[in-house]
Amino acid sequence: MFLPSVDVVVVGAGPAGLLAAGKAAADGAKVLLLEKMEKPARKLRITGKGRCNITNAKPYLEFLDEIHPEPRFVRDAFNSFFNNDIVELLSSVGVETVQERGMRIFPASGKAWDVAEGLIKWAKSKGVTIINRASATSISVSNGRVVWVDYTVSSKDLHRVNCSAVILATGGKSYPATGSTGDGYTLARDCGHTITPLIPSLVGVETNPVFHLKDELNLKNVSLTLLVEGKQNDDEFGELELTAYGFNGPIMLRLSRKIVFALAKGSKVELLLDLKPALSHQKVGNRILREIDKNPRIAVIDLARKLLPKDLAFVMVDQLGIAAQKVLSRLSTSECNSIVQWLKEQRFEVTGHRSWNEAIVTAGGVSLKEVNPKSMESKLVGGLFFVGELLNLDASTGGYNLQIAYSTGWLAGTKAAESLR
Ligand SMILES: Cc1cc2nc3c(=O)[nH]c(=O)nc-3n(C[C@H](O)[C@H](O)[C@H](O)COP(=O)(O)OP(=O)(O)OC[C@H]3O[C@@H](n4cnc5c(N)ncnc54)[C@H](O)[C@@H]3O)c2cc1C
Repeated sequence: MFLPSVDVVVVGAGPAGLLAAGKAAADGAKVLLLEKMEKPARKLRITGKGRCNITNAKPYLEFLDEIHPEPRFVRDAFNSFFNNDIVELLSSVGVETVQERGMRIFPASGKAWDVAEGLIKWAKSKGVTIINRASATSISVSNGRVVWVDYTVSSKDLHRVNCSAVILATGGKSYPATGSTGDGYTLARDCGHTITPLIPSLVGVETNPVFHLKDELNLKNVSLTLLVEGKQNDDEFGELELTAYGFNGPIMLRLSRKIVFALAKGSKVELLLDLKPALSHQKVGNRILREIDKNPRIAVIDLARKLLPKDLAFVMVDQLGIAAQKVLSRLSTSECNSIVQWLKEQRFEVTGHRSWNEAIVTAGGVSLKEVNPKSMESKLVGGLFFVGELLNLDASTGGYNLQIAYSTGWLAGTKAAESLR
């Protein structure tokens, strides 16, 4: 397919690109949306473990607190299109939503796939032409303005399309199998833009030691404290996944951004795990003493199983070097203390983090200094816009990253169409 001339070319049909394309088309622009994969929004289809945490119902200011490194940058984008707007837009195409714990919004069907298909349906209903398997390879700039985009279809035929505006919505570098392979950074750099260091964020971390378990194990109501150069930096309470390499799961992901940046700086990073955060050291000690008084003939492993999931109970006695069948009445004071210490304060050195293949988002990207927050337009090249994860913006888990994509996409689509008039 060859379209000699359109108003706006949008590169990348993820949530940011679909919103940008649909809004520009709704405002009267002739829009071509290029998607390099065989179908749009592949990453969106696997979000939220296949359920898609669409956005978060938190009020504006609390929402901004979750965004890094410059929450102020998204103020205009959020003013133009916020959490209630995406809920309404999805409802208009038959995708109803529900609110869950932590004010997180999900599709009522529980299927991320429905959200992806809903956004595609919406964009097409506004008149967007989508070409799949179409990979943008270069953007031509003349007299300080974009003039055309070159792209290949199925990695073969080269096409050129003239345009007045280009919206780059190619996503970040994480989960490259979904199509987000970082092409946008090269395209942006070729247009003279600065890319801040790219770092995987919302990612599992590797530790020394690790728990030797048969399978991954999910723990609820535990806490992790982050130490950087020996100083307490942050802590999180909630669910944690113990893995063969270290830690993953909600509280680990929430701390991971700070960890990855600290590791990149060469800082010493440690984690303290508290398996009983609701109880002080003293209370855990008293609990053990009560058990010894009440059940002096039971084995240590039975005590451990009262305090921990079965697999972890075996790991505890093994690591502490206490015979599993030793009866409680024979436990020494120092063994009791070592159990309290193990439950309350295990220390792990962080040795690394998981790769781009497993990171949920990319921290770093197109420098915000070179993009106008009122329009998402480049300050260097007229008619060039940046949206979504490609920008140096990222957020915590909870639906915030997708909202950045919709809102920046919507604002860029509005302004790209406006610039034609
Ligand atoms: C496993 C996982 C779960 C997640 N869960 C959630 C969640 O529940 N809630 C949440 O808020 N966030 C979640 N995220 C993050 C969220 O998915 C991303 O922040 C969001 O998809 C970014 O949107 P985007 O449109 O900027 O980029 P992407 O969704 O990455 O889309 C970019 C698109 O551009 C295309 N593309 C790239 N290069 C080219 C090119 N040269 N030519 C043409 N097309 C190109 C890609 O194929 C892709 O389709 C999750 C991420 C992952 C990996």
